This record gives sequence, structure tokens and C-alpha cells, in this order.
Amino acid sequence: MSTRPAYDNENIFAKILRGEMPAHKVYEDDRAFVFLDIFPRAPGHALVIPKAPARNIFDITPEDLAHVAKVAQTVAHAAIEAYDADGITVIQSNEKAGGQEVFHLHVHVIPRYEGQRLKPPASEMETPEVLAGQAAKLRTALGQ
Ligand code: AMP
Repeated sequence: MSTRPAYDNENIFAKILRGEMPAHKVYEDDRAFVFLDIFPRAPGHALVIPKAPARNIFDITPEDLAHVAKVAQTVAHAAIEAYDADGITVIQSNEKAGGQEVFHLHVHVIPRYEGQRLKPPASEMETPEVLAGQAAKLRTALGQ
């Protein structure tokens, strides 16, 4: 790809950051926002995003990327405790060919259990009630 596509202010995660779309918020600081994926690939699937308008790894500043990674690590520690998980999978995809569907950089933090495969992307929408309960557990583990 010779010319990189520009950041689109109307993407879903930009709308969540502006409060124009609902989200099951887990954590927020001055540079990052964490919420639950509504199509979880496993229970407790969280997304860590920068507040800066970055499309993906190609336009985010190294400082914002480092901060998102730091928050993803904190969320991974909290998630393994909150959900009594056996492991955590961290995924970050870039551009359509790289598996990216939403064009605001995000890091997936997915709790894993022995012998359980990930569901395919966007296979089943979780109910708001279940997501609210999972978000509350993760917030507690984060001391929020
Ligand atoms: P990716 O394929 O890496 O771009 O991941 C995009 C993720 O965003 C997928 O896991 C979707 O399930 C998730 N997603 C899409 N819309 C929403 C939304 N409104 N709230 C939370 N997660 C979403």
C-alpha cells in the first residue's frame, strides 16, 4: 500500500470515545480507554484503544502505542484474576489484509481457558446484562 488511508473520525470507536455510542467501559485515563467487545471471542474479551485518532500501528505515535501496551498489560493482569482464566491472548491487527475491521487502533485482551478455542470474529453478540457483569468484575480487579 503506497498511500496510507487517512483516519476516519466517524469510525465506531471514535464515536464511543466521543460518547456518541454506548460501551461497557472498564477503564479510562488521559490517553487510553478500555471497554468490552460486544462480539467477544471468549468471555471477558476487552479492547484497549488510544484516545488519539490513530488508524493503526502505522500512524500512532510510539508514545501512545507504548501507553496502550502498558494498559493492555494491566488489563491482562486484572482479567486473569477477575475471570480466573488460564491464559490471555493479545491481538492487534492492521489494515484489512491484516484482519482489521475497525479503523481506530485497538488491542484485544482475551481471557483463555485450557481446551477452549476462540470463537470466530463477530460470530455472536453478547447481551448487555452479561457484558455489564463482566465489565464490573474487571473494574473491581483494576481497583476502579
Ligand atoms: P478488529 O477485527 O481487530 O478490527 O476488531 C474489531 C473488534 O471490534 C471486533 O472484535 C468487534 O467485535 C468489535 N466491535 C465492533 N463494534 C463494536 C462495538 N460497538 N462495541 C464493542 N466492540 C465492537
